[in-house]
Amino acid sequence: MNYIRRISRGWLIFLIIAVVLSIIGCIKAKPQLIKKISPDSFAVVILPDTQFYSKRYPDTYYEQTQWIVDNKDTLNIKFAIHLGDITHDNIPEQWEVADKAHRTLDGADVPYSMIPGNHDMPEMGRFRDTSRYNKYFGPERFLGKKWYGGHMGITNDNNYTFFEWTNLRFMVVSLEYAPTDEALTWAYKLIEQYKDRRVIVVTHCFQTKGGRHKKDCATAYNLEGNGAHTVWQELISKHRNIFMVLSGHVTGVKHKIRRGDAGNEVHEILTDYQDERAELDGIKSGNGWMRILQFNPNENKIHVSSLSVDGVKRFYETDRYNRDPAHSDHAFSFHYDMKTRI
Ligand SMILES: [Zn+2]
Repeated sequence: MNYIRRISRGWLIFLIIAVVLSIIGCIKAKPQLIKKISPDSFAVVILPDTQFYSKRYPDTYYEQTQWIVDNKDTLNIKFAIHLGDITHDNIPEQWEVADKAHRTLDGADVPYSMIPGNHDMPEMGRFRDTSRYNKYFGPERFLGKKWYGGHMGITNDNNYTFFEWTNLRFMVVSLEYAPTDEALTWAYKLIEQYKDRRVIVVTHCFQTKGGRHKKDCATAYNLEGNGAHTVWQELISKHRNIFMVLSGHVTGVKHKIRRGDAGNEVHEILTDYQDERAELDGIKSGNGWMRILQFNPNENKIHVSSLSVDGVKRFYETDRYNRDPAHSDHAFSFHYDMKTRI
């Protein structure tokens, strides 16, 4: 009898440990709280390359857009910006994931911008064919939304969107992968037309992690189009109301300040966490990292922070950036005059 009792007690302990472990496994780590920095501040959220979420971890993509909706009021989120490479293989299953993720934003009326990256075209970008992107994120998805400005030609490859806070009026100009001459001319005229808007330019391939302009965006894939140095020379540097350029594509992070022809500061910010590997399986995912830009007009400052919706506490790609999310690679502030009229 003692023997049997000992065995069943052993089983009971085993069972309790198993239950406790499975409960711990089910409790997902929560993302750290991001505090609103001032009653008058507002936020813009950056969604860096989501390609591995569309491919393997759809729930992470869904959680990212849900986080934006959940924090819309507390952080006064005015806009969300996708940096391109929405999918990894440009196949319908992955577009369906992205579509579902962004329907969450549609449902809560959160304004957002999209652009195609090289992975959103056939063979990782060897053909400039964005028909799948346009099937899911074409102009008709956005027509009727008051924050949607419009697009070049019949596709949504190059588009512009608006957001406002008090008397501050912004325009986000999203440019196709390695923009063609036509796209640069279109954007030039558009930004001329909206001289009274503070402009953020978004294009998937722009900055290297060393802070240079990436020259081979087009040539790397045998595409007709322009490298970042031409985009800078012919477009960005020519307009004093452009104050920020956002890009992904190059795994890593960088914040570089350049001066446009009029002496205006242009903040070039590279964000791409796609090579972050999940601790459990070691497969590239991105670990749910996004960026939050908090604009504080009272102190003329923009505060950048990085947050993982998967609740991951550190970075793993040690050769690319510091592991601590509080390090200046991932969390930094800079001056931007929001008091003087432009
Ligand atoms: Zn890319």
